Amino acid sequence: MKIKLHQIPVKDIFKGYKDRGDDRGVVGYDNKLDIRPPYQRNYVYDLDQARSVINTILNNYPLNIMYWVINGNDSYEVLDGQQRTLSVMQFLDHKFSIEWDGQNMYVDSLPDDLYNVLINYKFMIYWCEGSDSEKLSWFKTVNIAGEELTNQELRNITYVGPWLSDAKRHFSKRSCVAKKLSDKYITGDPNRQELLEKALKWISDKQGISINEYMAINCSKNDANELWQYWQDVINWVKKIFPNYHKQMKGLHWGDLYNKYNKNKYNSSEINNDIDKLIQDDEIKSIKGIWQYELAKSYEPNAKKFLNLRTFSIAAKNKKYKEQNGICPICKSEGLNKKWNLSEMEGDHIIPWSKGGKTEYSNLEMLCKKHNESKGNM
Ligand SMILES: [Zn+2]
Repeated sequence: MKIKLHQIPVKDIFKGYKDRGDDRGVVGYDNKLDIRPPYQRNYVYDLDQARSVINTILNNYPLNIMYWVINGNDSYEVLDGQQRTLSVMQFLDHKFSIEWDGQNMYVDSLPDDLYNVLINYKFMIYWCEGSDSEKLSWFKTVNIAGEELTNQELRNITYVGPWLSDAKRHFSKRSCVAKKLSDKYITGDPNRQELLEKALKWISDKQGISINEYMAINCSKNDANELWQYWQDVINWVKKIFPNYHKQMKGLHWGDLYNKYNKNKYNSSEINNDIDKLIQDDEIKSIKGIWQYELAKSYEPNAKKFLNLRTFSIAAKNKKYKEQNGICPICKSEGLNKKWNLSEMEGDHIIPWSKGGKTEYSNLEMLCKKHNESKGNM
């Protein structure tokens, strides 16, 4: 990782300054600097803060050091210092005025000496250059002033390029297409890169690699079409298998479920009827587990675990144990009248849940562990 301090006058950064509006970013420094890269989180513009930046400069006081990332090819991105840089650019661009000597002043009413102080003022900037993994670990170590970056925001700084711009176009805005397509099923704030992170987590899991590895492999591609198609595949699969929508479906780990079960065959109309019944079943403690149970039940012997079914209370098992005098009824039918300890027995549903049995005292029997297990596997 190479980190080098540069001093760059404000007038150089203002050269070619352009605010292209909401989505298309802000550039400066002869078009070589991304001041606010497109689709990145927009900071709330604070006029008081902006004015105090200008006053700091006109008084020739120091501003904190800023960070730029070198993206190669004489192109840079502001990592830290966006608000300060934008404040100066917007003041030079006649966007707001300041109070100076009790007067309201726009940039063109500044006296020459003050104007020269401003445009010749030097920003202190660290230029950071290195391999992707070096940048990532360095960004994690540096305490970026005032900004808590999420893991995905850190990765986005590390793996810049056309692939990332395209991925952000799909996944990183409040009104982005990924949000629109999946809002009923998947939670996450696109502005904080949570949808992008989910998409990346799921597709990289599927490929057996980490998010960083996936981004490193793909970041130089021209578009993020593979990722966007994968996301559509997940949502379309969910809609196909579970055509009836229930609000409990929002926030399930659909990508994980897709990765695990999408090769299996399902009958969606049978599944829907089942789900309508299961949602009413108060033996089920984990309603959100119903969907995975439906996907798993023909393929995994212990699929019931996803439902977190009700079990008998300790008091009920104690009482029944005494009633049975520690004898397991199946042992007894096999001619073995062994008296078990309570800890050697389990509470069993006489009529199992799958046949409509409830977790009620009248449906409880105590079995020895061996017979409880063999009954459970029937
Ligand atoms: Zn037994």
